[in-house]
Amino acid sequence: MTSISRRGFMLVLSSPSGAGKTSIATKILEVDKNVNVSISVTTRLMRPGEREGEDYFFVTKEQFQSMLHNNELLEHADVFGHSYGTPKHYVFDTLTGGKDIIFDIDWQGTQQLAQLARVDLVSVFILPPSLGELEKRLNTRAQDSADVILNRMKEASNEMSHWAEYDYVIVNEDLEQSVAQVHAIITAERLKRNRQRGLLDFVNKLRGVN
Ligand code: 5GP
Repeated sequence: MTSISRRGFMLVLSSPSGAGKTSIATKILEVDKNVNVSISVTTRLMRPGEREGEDYFFVTKEQFQSMLHNNELLEHADVFGHSYGTPKHYVFDTLTGGKDIIFDIDWQGTQQLAQLARVDLVSVFILPPSLGELEKRLNTRAQDSADVILNRMKEASNEMSHWAEYDYVIVNEDLEQSVAQVHAIITAERLKRNRQRGLLDFVNKLRGVN
């Protein structure tokens, strides 16, 4: 055992709705117990199959405003006419505990996290292999009405225009392959020199210097 420990980082996955970021995040969480997920608050309605406290904390507009007012949100944004935000306390607890934390947030939230703590942020943009595939995935998800899907297709272009602001870009053609790619990013980011605490002491000991 060495005395080297690690500071956790914030792993943001962004993509247009339906490009697969939620499936990727779920798989990562299943196999890597050193990663937690940030559960956002939202004012949008719960979709069929969603669960309170697992997919989101569903709140009223008033509750959201009060969280904002009390400085309880790390970042927040309006997406598709609803408010979304990241509760602060869980993120801080996770990072100080030496774990990493995954965020499924949009480009607006990512920009805010970058302003707050650039060194602790690792951002990944997930692209669909084609527009046709994106539409197919939104339709097969069958959680949204035709109107909502049409709106999300329009928004996809806007969301995708922000790809160049991200550290990594993955084209999600195959879920298993994309999960492996995100794993590779996580592994490399954990080895970054500035995330490893106690390295200087460790190397000094190896070199026999004080
Ligand atoms: P959905 O309604 O499909 O769950 O999410 C819509 C969009 O809102 C997605 O692009 C998702 O990444 C984004 N989103 C979800 N939670 C948050 C959040 O807490 N902050 C920000 N900025 N975006 C979020």
